[in-house]
Amino acid sequence: MNSEKLIVFSAPSGSGKTTLVNHLLEQSLPLGFSISATSRAPRGKEKDGVEYHFLSPEGFKEKIRENAFVEYEEVYENTFYGTLTSELKRLWKEGKQVLFDIDVKGGLTIKKKYPKQTLSIFVQPPSIEELENRLRHRATDSEEKINERIGKAKGELTFSERFDYCLINDDLETAKKEIVQVVSDFLNS
Ligand code: 5GP
Repeated sequence: MNSEKLIVFSAPSGSGKTTLVNHLLEQSLPLGFSISATSRAPRGKEKDGVEYHFLSPEGFKEKIRENAFVEYEEVYENTFYGTLTSELKRLWKEGKQVLFDIDVKGGLTIKKKYPKQTLSIFVQPPSIEELENRLRHRATDSEEKINERIGKAKGELTFSERFDYCLINDDLETAKKEIVQVVSDFLNS
């Protein structure tokens, strides 16, 4: 039994992944969220050090040069997101297993770097139409951003079979129960 585990959630944005990650964090499981760094500006009520470590593009590049990332990606044009090595160390030191909400490429990189310790989960939305509805409903992004996210989602859906577990999120309550079971089993393995 390895005591340092990683649980990666990857999915096209709008698939309900963040809701599922938050649901897991509300359970009495030894989990901690890996707060990523990003070069994008905070949205809505987001706070530095809570949802993300918000960095300037220059600050992000500096971290790349310092080799501070386990992985990083240019998820959208000119917008970088990355997992800091210091986050993993912080959470493991606190006795927590690390939960990630990261893009598909980043998720596959984590699995490759920590193959035995990682459970990689792909959250699949019921359809592209439903995904589009959810993104528009969220109404935090411009039309251009929404279209960019949908274009990216179409490509990402083809990666699902490379993950350890594929969770189809067509009914949220069912998906929540399923994921608590899958993650609990992994933590106990
Ligand atoms: P958003 O801007 O909506 O918060 O996130 C955009 C995308 O970036 C999401 O798909 C999210 O999962 C991904 N993302 C967030 N943090 C990281 C990270 O540390 N690494 C990678 N590769 N992707 C991330």
